[in-house]
Amino acid sequence: MQQAAFSTDHFFPLEGEEFNFAVTRSNPAVIKDFPELESTALSKILDDNELLRRIQLTDKKLRSTIKAIELEILPNNKGRPVETARWRYVVRNGVVMAKKNVGIRQIFVTTIPERLTYCFANKIHKEFGCSSLNGLMKEASVLIEAPKIKDAFKAIMGRCRKCSFHRALPNIFNPLKQYNDFNPSEIGEVVSWDQISRLSELNNRKMIKFWVLTDHLSSASFLSVVEGPCSKSNREALILALKKLRPEKFGKSRTRVVMDSARVNTPLVDDPELTHLKIKVECMTAHSRSKNNLAILDTRVAKMTKYLTLALNEIKDAYLIAERVSTEHNRIRGAHGYSPVELLTEVDQFTNEKLEIDWQMLIKIRRTAREMSRLANEKMMKAGKFRVPMNLSPFVEGDSYGGTTDSPIKLGDIVLISGIFDKNNSRPFYKISISEQFPDGIDFENQLIHTTKMDLKRKNKQANKVWSFNCIRCVIDGTSDMKLPPTEDEKFEILYFEL
Ligand SMILES: [Zn+2]
Repeated sequence: MQQAAFSTDHFFPLEGEEFNFAVTRSNPAVIKDFPELESTALSKILDDNELLRRIQLTDKKLRSTIKAIELEILPNNKGRPVETARWRYVVRNGVVMAKKNVGIRQIFVTTIPERLTYCFANKIHKEFGCSSLNGLMKEASVLIEAPKIKDAFKAIMGRCRKCSFHRALPNIFNPLKQYNDFNPSEIGEVVSWDQISRLSELNNRKMIKFWVLTDHLSSASFLSVVEGPCSKSNREALILALKKLRPEKFGKSRTRVVMDSARVNTPLVDDPELTHLKIKVECMTAHSRSKNNLAILDTRVAKMTKYLTLALNEIKDAYLIAERVSTEHNRIRGAHGYSPVELLTEVDQFTNEKLEIDWQMLIKIRRTAREMSRLANEKMMKAGKFRVPMNLSPFVEGDSYGGTTDSPIKLGDIVLISGIFDKNNSRPFYKISISEQFPDGIDFENQLIHTTKMDLKRKNKQANKVWSFNCIRCVIDGTSDMKLPPTEDEKFEILYFEL
C-alpha cells in the first residue's frame, strides 16, 4: 500500500496558493555576484562576517539600517522605518542581525536580503535534509531572517521527491501508551522503553522489531534492533541504549525506566544487574495498562513513524534503519526552540556553537504542558471522548449504525476523525471516497480509509486524506440524512494542544 502511495504525488504546491515567484527560484545574478555561496557550507557562510556584510550591502533597506546604527543617525520624519529597524536590529561585527524569540530562546540571527532568500532556503533544505514544511521553517528560524522564506521552502519541497513523500504518507496516529509523569529534572532520569515492529518489503516482508528508548525530558528517542526474544537480550539492549543516552552519567545517576508488562519486560523488575547500575524498571500494572487507549497524540512519535516508513522503503539493513530514524527524529525542534540532540549535547546542531540552555525554564514549561494534557484527558474521559479503537466490519444489508465500540463501514459513510492536529478544526468530519489506490475507499487488510474532508467551501485535492482505523471515533451512515453530531470546539482545542 505504501508503495502505491508513493506512485502518486499528493503534494500540490501550486494549487490554490499565491506564491511570491521572486523567491521560488534561484536568482542567476546572485550566483554571479557571490560565486562562493554555492560551494560553501551554510555554517561557514554564517561565520563569514566579511561575506555577510558584502551581501547585506547590496540591499537598500539593510544599507540604511547599517548606516543608522553604525553612524547613530537620528531618524527624521522620512526615516521612520529606520527608527523601527534601530530597535529590531543590531550590527555585530559589521553584520545586521535580528533579535528574535524562538520558543524560550532569545537569539540573534543574520538578516538575509530577499533576493538571496531562495539561495539560503535551498542550502537549509540541502544541509538539514528533507522534512515537513514546519520542520524546515523551525530550523530556518534559529539560523536566519529572510523575507518570504516560506514560499521558497514550499517551492523547493514541491520539486523534491523525498519531501513529497513526507506529505504523501498516511496520517497514522496510533493511540500511545500513557505513563505516569514523573516530572524529570534531568536527561536520562525518566525514560520509556517500548517495542515496535514493522514489515520490511525490501526483506521479503520480514518483520523487523525495534526497541524505542524515549527520554521524557528531551524527547530524544533512539531505535535499536531487537536481537532476541528473551529478557536477557532485552536487558542488554536497554543497558546499551541508556549508555548511549548519557555516557558520562551512566551507572552513577538513577534512571527510571517505564515499560509495559510484556513477558520480556517483567523479569527486569528488581534485576540485580540493573539495580547495580542504578536502573529501576517499572512495569505498568493492569490498572495503568487499561489507560493504553487514552490517545495522547504525541507529534514526535507520529513523526518517527513517518521517518521509519520512509527508511524501510529505502534501506534493507535494520541497524542502518535504526540509526537513520533516530538521527532524523532527534534533530526536529520542539516548541521550546531546541531539538532533542541539542538538549543532549548543548551544542547547536548546525553551527556547533555552545548553547546556553535555561533548564529551569524548560522544565517548567514542560510541566505546565503535561499538566494541561492531563486535565484535557480527564475532561475527555468524562465526556466519553476516548474509547478503545472501534471494531469496524464491512457493511452488510440490515446492519445498524450508531454503535460506540462496533460499527459497520462502507464507501460513502461519514467518519469523525480524532487524530488531526489542526486546533482550529472543530468539525473533523470526512467522507469515505475512492481513489486510484483505494478503489473501494476502505482497505480492511491494512486498516486504512481514503477520505475527502467535508464542510469545505472549495474542494481541492488536498482535501483527500488517508487515515488508519484507529483514528476513527464514530461512523455515520452515508446513505441516511442524519445531521452531523455537534462537536464541542473548546474540547478539541485542548485535545490538539501540541506538547
Ligand atoms: Zn526534500
